[in-house]
Amino acid sequence: MIPFVDLKAQYAALKAEIDAAIAGVLDHGRFILGPEVAEMEEALAAYAGARHCVAVASGTDALLISLMALDIGPGDEVIVPAFTFAATAEVVILAGATPVLADVQPDTCNLDPAGLEAMVNERTRAIIPVSLFGQPADMEEIGAVASRHGLAVIEDAAQSFGAVYRNRRSCALSTIGCTSFFPSKPLGCYGDGGALFTDDEALATACREIRVHGQSGRYHHTRIGVAGRMDTLQCAILLAKLKGFDWEIGRRIEIGERYNRLLDARGIDRVAQRGDRTSVFAQYTVFVEDRDAVRASLEGAGIPTAVHYPVPLDGQPAYRERCIAGPLPHSRRAADRVLSLPMHPYLDTASQDRIVAALEQAIA
Ligand SMILES: *Cc1c(COP(=O)(O)O)cnc(C)c1O
Repeated sequence: MIPFVDLKAQYAALKAEIDAAIAGVLDHGRFILGPEVAEMEEALAAYAGARHCVAVASGTDALLISLMALDIGPGDEVIVPAFTFAATAEVVILAGATPVLADVQPDTCNLDPAGLEAMVNERTRAIIPVSLFGQPADMEEIGAVASRHGLAVIEDAAQSFGAVYRNRRSCALSTIGCTSFFPSKPLGCYGDGGALFTDDEALATACREIRVHGQSGRYHHTRIGVAGRMDTLQCAILLAKLKGFDWEIGRRIEIGERYNRLLDARGIDRVAQRGDRTSVFAQYTVFVEDRDAVRASLEGAGIPTAVHYPVPLDGQPAYRERCIAGPLPHSRRAADRVLSLPMHPYLDTASQDRIVAALEQAIA
């Protein structure tokens, strides 16, 4: 079986650094907000090109804390794509606001800026574009709509940390950028973790306070917050992994582009990438018609696949009644056809050739 992602190969490549980082934290014992947390925040802010980075417990917490810092709540609407992981809209509901589902572009599966302006009304407070599969959404076009109406933009960059959009990095493209360090994301730790990025000092301070129960000083609670810290151990692991990150991103792009060439030569439909940005290929995703049969055929050939995501949010039981949604034809069509193939920095050429040959045979 070819691994879908290969965290073991990654650990083997960076074992000495990661083991030393873990041992260092066990030695000093400052497990909550220890020195590695600030160190990691500084390194990631510099990497992303944002003034502030706040490490939090997960990508979902990064989104939720961002909404809380922007004081978004009951009576407010937030525009999110219908075709995404549930967390993007979940946090809007948790904050007490209402998600308004927008459709995606049929080729990139990212939020379509056309039609966005028509969804804005006096209740709209923010837009959360998702940089899906590792490729930044149309952040400038979305930002232009937002600034015309005084809205915040929160990039859900859970899959796109490290990607470049018009010479700037994902996470530094909007009011706040949120990412996830879930183990299988492009930059993953060994548990849950996440971070948010902003250039706005007041927002960064608010997020830092919300992360620790809304405290501006010890036992001085100026806001309602959450237990949203990222463990020191996870930050130390991430700092060690950051050393190999540029190489890994390079490999992801190389492998993603090779998939593109091989599939294009065979006329197999896939998620498109724009020329003015890079994708870090958190997922490598194709479009197929008879997905269950294709999956079964690949499984039989020892090739695991995944579906990101099988149902748009307006079709999910918990979301149907809690979201505002019009017709979402491209989200539905994407959900019916997407299929993600094995993708990780350690995928070799022979395995990739096997995957493409098996896919070609499965859809023939
Ligand atoms: C992974 C993911 C999240 C949530 O991140 P967690 O760290 O698992 O909480 C949110 N949005 C998208 C698009 C994701 O892929």
